[in-house]
Amino acid sequence: MVTPIKNPEIRYKHLFINNEFVNSSSGKTFPVINPATGKKIADVQEGDKTDVDKAVNAAKKAFEPGSVWRNTDASDRGRLLNKLADLIERDRLYLASLESLDNGKPFNDSYNVDMVLVYKCLRYYAGWTDKIGGKTIPMDGNYFCYTKHEPVGVCGQIIPWNFPLLMFAWKLGPAIACGNVVILKPAEQTPLTAIYTASLIKEAGFPPGVINIVPGYGPTAGAAISEHYEIDKVAFTGSTEVGQIVMQAAARTNLKRVTLELGGKSPNVVFADADLDVAADACHNGLFFNMGQCCCAASRTYVQEDVYDVFTRKLVEKAKTRVVGDPFDSRSMSGPQVDQEQFDKIMALIDSGVQQGAKLECGGKRHGNVGYFIQPTVFSGVTEDMRIGREEIFGPVQQIIKFRTLDEVIQRANKTNYGLAAAICTKDIDKVMTYSSQVKAGTVWVNSFNVFGAQCPFGGFKMSGIGRELGEYGLQQYSEVKTVIIKTPTKV
Ligand code: NAP
Ligand code: MG
Repeated sequence: MVTPIKNPEIRYKHLFINNEFVNSSSGKTFPVINPATGKKIADVQEGDKTDVDKAVNAAKKAFEPGSVWRNTDASDRGRLLNKLADLIERDRLYLASLESLDNGKPFNDSYNVDMVLVYKCLRYYAGWTDKIGGKTIPMDGNYFCYTKHEPVGVCGQIIPWNFPLLMFAWKLGPAIACGNVVILKPAEQTPLTAIYTASLIKEAGFPPGVINIVPGYGPTAGAAISEHYEIDKVAFTGSTEVGQIVMQAAARTNLKRVTLELGGKSPNVVFADADLDVAADACHNGLFFNMGQCCCAASRTYVQEDVYDVFTRKLVEKAKTRVVGDPFDSRSMSGPQVDQEQFDKIMALIDSGVQQGAKLECGGKRHGNVGYFIQPTVFSGVTEDMRIGREEIFGPVQQIIKFRTLDEVIQRANKTNYGLAAAICTKDIDKVMTYSSQVKAGTVWVNSFNVFGAQCPFGGFKMSGIGRELGEYGLQQYSEVKTVIIKTPTKV
């Protein structure tokens, strides 16, 4: 068992522009809070529009024809990404400790899940750098036609707080693999691991201006990115509401390319024929992992009526025995929610569940008296007209809903504006095939939940997003296709 660093030193609190750590232009800072205690960890430099402009200038310069970056061989981009992955693995203990301090997630998860997925993602995309080719096309006439996949250019990337360094890797890997330059804004709640990783970016040997990091607030630094005329693409992960703002800003300004990874209200459907223990794990972990703060969280658990009562008891038992506590305690399965705002929002939704007649099976209250901890909470008797059956909660609150038939549950699963993920637990292959083809969701898990791989694309149908991250599909969002047609003396 690895021992975490309980008080990781905060070495960097700055913006990272042109490979230098710099103060914000305004001289302002913002506090970063430890969600387990509510106490301040550090004051971080607060970037705004002026700083985004500086970062854009550095990125544009790095992207000019003839620059070091543009002359870097594709295979060398792979070497740099691999080097960065190696440095993150070298500093895994420190980074995992810092992530837990800043975000509140259990150290076991930061160390064994987040950090591993981070360096695996970077390595996966390192392998792609010199395999991103176009086609030769047999067009009519005496012409030679080929396509090239060129980088889009300056990519703005705005990320959330639920998987701070992992969302950084999901954005950075494909952007760099395709040869772009990047300006990334971490979430105001959790900027620390991204800023530290800036030092590793420099150590790995990336040329100045290729990767810039501007911590700051959404309505200032974030908006400056989505509105910028010289940013060619914006990739955003967060709430559907802000995703709409980002897309509007892009539409209003320079029509920059937009990819969005937004919210969800993912259905997990359990049939009576399922292995109920396997299903209970999928339902419990699918919701309570990361304190429910997952865009794909299984927050609608549909259970077939024949097994509804027995399965509800299993889920309640699991929730009751889930250990909530200090993220640095190895027994903790859950830590605090990320901040006061999320805590208040979740508690209000729990209240609405009680008011609207759902049965509170367990939890429902604050855990302890410091920090933003919430007891694992289970509601049964939920229906989709209740707020908890419809709205994204982003907290440790499980909704159990009764259903009868396959057709009925597919209809109900699809009756939402979201379409990020879905799951089915059954031993019947026919049900699997029907459900997985008719449910409107970007990912469908069968007898499992929350299983990710850098190789497998992830993203949403409907209002859960635009575009896909990860896998080969993720590369499409970071390249422009150029068609070249050359007149030839004879047919070639
Ligand atoms: P959010 O506001 O959507 O934050 C995501 C990112 O967008 C952050 O970096 C944020 O900056 C930035 N942002 C905020 N306003 C912006 C604007 N006007 N222009 C450009 N960027 C902007 O999410 P939140 O407020 O932290 O959480 C609210 C809800 O969003 C949650 O309850 C949950 O339902 C959902 N959420 C979803 C995901 C996901 O993985 N899909 C992740 C987090 C949250 P700041 O750091 O300053 O806010
Ligand atoms: Mg916000």
